[in-house]
Amino acid sequence: MIQFESVTKKYPNGQIALEDINLKIEDGEFVFVVGASGAGKSTLLKLITREARPTQGKILIDDQDILRIPESKIPVLRRRIGTIFQDFKLLLNRTVFENVAVPLEVLSQKDSHIEKEVSAVLEKVGLLEKANSFPVQLSGGEIQRTAIARAIVAKPVVLLADEPTGDLDPKTAREVVELLEKINKEDKTTVLMATHNESIVNHFKKRVVLLKKGKIEKDVKEGNYDAD
Ligand code: ADP
Repeated sequence: MIQFESVTKKYPNGQIALEDINLKIEDGEFVFVVGASGAGKSTLLKLITREARPTQGKILIDDQDILRIPESKIPVLRRRIGTIFQDFKLLLNRTVFENVAVPLEVLSQKDSHIEKEVSAVLEKVGLLEKANSFPVQLSGGEIQRTAIARAIVAKPVVLLADEPTGDLDPKTAREVVELLEKINKEDKTTVLMATHNESIVNHFKKRVVLLKKGKIEKDVKEGNYDAD
């Protein structure tokens, strides 16, 4: 469970990105975080990975106060969280397989284990045939699916996606979200997706948390983009 208790984030330049956010996300939920550009969506996700710290308030993940985690233990927190951020770049000189293997290599896992886990996740995202392709040889949707595979290969409990459909055509965008939905259902991974893609949100009918100028304007189950 992810819990925000009276969370405010003010950047050093004085910009208030989030104000008095109270939010509870249960294990296995799928949540669209929506709102205009500048509403605070990215900041909300960055607070969960401790890339940003709130000015006030508490953030709990499975009842652990993540603001009390010492810097040296932040990698342990981040291992529980898969991220697909807008600026998430694949390593261009590595194949799809090698890119997806990175999080397991960082954990110094055995080659045989890496081989098995990467193959399984590539199959899940439908990229097994592209395992030996390099990023330049992939379509936009395939690049995003590789990024998703890399984000889930170490079996995170939470998956954060920031505008994962940004540059994709409508059909490919929908396929990417279908994949996130499949991961949510099959692996019980909690998914938080920040987006301003109205047609995607209206199609998938998930919980919608609408941010407006740093505040939660609406929070609706099976909502639409405007959260009604
Ligand atoms: P969104 O993801 O909804 O576009 P952000 O969380 O990126 O919103 O930004 C929320 C507000 O905080 C905006 O006004 C933005 O300009 C500001 N902001 C974001 N990051 C920083 C930063 N590092 N320093 C100062 N202001 C920031």
